[in-house]
Amino acid sequence: MAVHSAMNEEIEAVVLSLSDYRENDAIIHILSKEHGKMAFVGQGVRKVTSKNGRNIQPCTHCMILYDHKENRSMQKMRTATIVHLFRHMKMDLKAGVAGNLICEAVQSLLEEGESCTDVYDHLLMALTLLDEGKHPDTVVSAFLAQLLEDLGFGLHVDGCVICNDTKVTSFSFKDGGFLCMHHMMLEKAASWDPADLKRFRLINKAGMHHCNVLLASTKATEKDVEQLVRVVRLHTGAPLHTFDLYQKI
Ligand SMILES: [Zn+2]
Repeated sequence: MAVHSAMNEEIEAVVLSLSDYRENDAIIHILSKEHGKMAFVGQGVRKVTSKNGRNIQPCTHCMILYDHKENRSMQKMRTATIVHLFRHMKMDLKAGVAGNLICEAVQSLLEEGESCTDVYDHLLMALTLLDEGKHPDTVVSAFLAQLLEDLGFGLHVDGCVICNDTKVTSFSFKDGGFLCMHHMMLEKAASWDPADLKRFRLINKAGMHHCNVLLASTKATEKDVEQLVRVVRLHTGAPLHTFDLYQKI
C-alpha cells in the first residue's frame, strides 16, 4: 500500500479576496470556520475555462477541498464548491461593494491562522443580510462595530470613555469612546449632534446579534460607517481601500 504524505481535507469558508499569482494561478484568501484565516494557491483558476475560478470569487461561501501538507506555507486548493453565491448582493453595486468592504476588514484585521468562529459567523450573517437587500450602511456599520468588539477593541458608548459621565457630547477616535463636555474640551474634539450620538450608540450596542432590530428601528448613515472605518484605520493601520469606492457609489 502506498503511503500518502498528503491528506484530503475539506473546509467551509468565505472567500475574502483573490490576488494574481504566476500566469494562470491565484492566491485565494479565505476565512474558514475551523482554521481561521488561510491562503491557498489555486492552480489554473484564472483561466476562463476554470470551473473553480467561478466558485472562488470574493464574498462567496464555499467548501474548499485541498491536500493538506504539514510543511507547506501555503496549501494547494483542489476544488471549490459553492454553498451560497450571494448572487443578489453581487448584482447590486452598493451591496456588492459593502460585501467587499467587510471582507477587506476581516482580511486586514485577522492574523493568519487566528481562530475566531465568532467573526466567521458574523461575516456570514452580514453577507446574508446584504444579499437579502437590507440597508448597506446599517449592515456594514453593525458589522464593523461587532468586528471591533470580537477582536477586543469594542467602543465605549455607555458614557464618557475617560470619566464615565453619562452626559456625552462627542466621540474620541483615539480613545475609542464617547466624551463628556469636559473631556471633549480637553481633547479639542468636535461636538456631535445628540441624534448622531444616540444612533451611533445603538449601532455599537446592537452589533450583528441585534442587527435585525437595528434594521427595523434605525437607519445608519454613511457617516456612521465612516466613523467606524476611521477607528479601524487609526487603531490597526488597515487601509480599507474599499471604503473609498463605497463612498463614491
Ligand atoms: Zn469625561
